[in-house]
Amino acid sequence: MSTGTKLLRLTFETLHRSGVAAALRPWSQGLGVIFCMHSVQPEKPSADGFTPNAGLTSTPEFLDAALTMLRQAGYDLISLDDALLRIEEGRSAKPFAVFTLDDGYRDNLVHALPVFEKHSCPFVVYVTPGFVEASTEMWWLALERIIDKETGRLEAGNVSAVLDGSAASKWAAWSVLSPVVQGMPEHEQRTWIRETSARFGFDLAALCQELIMSWNEVRKLAAHPLATIGAHTLNHFAVSRLPEEEARREITVSGKALERELGRPVRHFAYPYGNVAHAGVRDFRLAAEAGYATAVTTRMGTVYPQHVRHLQALPRVMVSSKYAEPRWLKVLASGLPGRMNNLGRKLNVR
Ligand SMILES: [Zn+2]
Repeated sequence: MSTGTKLLRLTFETLHRSGVAAALRPWSQGLGVIFCMHSVQPEKPSADGFTPNAGLTSTPEFLDAALTMLRQAGYDLISLDDALLRIEEGRSAKPFAVFTLDDGYRDNLVHALPVFEKHSCPFVVYVTPGFVEASTEMWWLALERIIDKETGRLEAGNVSAVLDGSAASKWAAWSVLSPVVQGMPEHEQRTWIRETSARFGFDLAALCQELIMSWNEVRKLAAHPLATIGAHTLNHFAVSRLPEEEARREITVSGKALERELGRPVRHFAYPYGNVAHAGVRDFRLAAEAGYATAVTTRMGTVYPQHVRHLQALPRVMVSSKYAEPRWLKVLASGLPGRMNNLGRKLNVR
């Protein structure tokens, strides 16, 4: 475990045990919280512990414990549409918690849905049509798998790494290459992963087909009374890095494609990656112009009545079983970490 992770765990455990987060909750809470998750699946054994994307995965047991704990702590587990009504009213008798899952993983249907059903907890799945149709690249997972399986030299931009099959060389390669690939302009990044995959015979389309729901599965989920389907761009691009017309197309057409496939309105949107570097004020405007009732970021924070004027820049709190204990969700939902992160401010929408 890295020093940073240890420090984070210590901070959350202290905030939880000391009662500080609970004591400050009336000041920091706001109306409620929107949690962001991705894949939900049972713990998979890894031969050498090389799991750099584990922060995007939670176990069904974690989700189960989190929902139990939040309900015991007095949170209303509600749909995003109901949360929107409370934001528009500017009040919530009890704080709300909304669960959202990004990208459209098949395990959301297989492993997360039964847990949400057990707790009668509504949830949102933000789907990227390009993943469903295997026409775009889940580059971060492809990079993980290539590093895990291959040996030899890998280069990106002006950095390189040598893989010798050891866990140490895999982690070293990931730490050098992934920030460079993440930071490339969007189309250059996808060219790089396509060329690298071709070199090693890695099948990018098969990765999408293995992990992401088919249209039939998305339709099955959309028909469930607890589920809401939202849009997540066509190609999972960081929209702020695109020219305006391309960003507008990614934001607008993804919702239209989902509406066509599902035969129902798509009112909600999530910005891929979703932090300050990936979605900004221009993109909030584009999401509003596209007609989305809400759009969520991954800027950490809880929701306040003031967000009524920034419904396309809603904050979320990212959680995964790798980095969080279920009891810490209470700390995260209290709003205190978000307020600390935002230097005491309620809004982080610029
Ligand atoms: Zn995503």
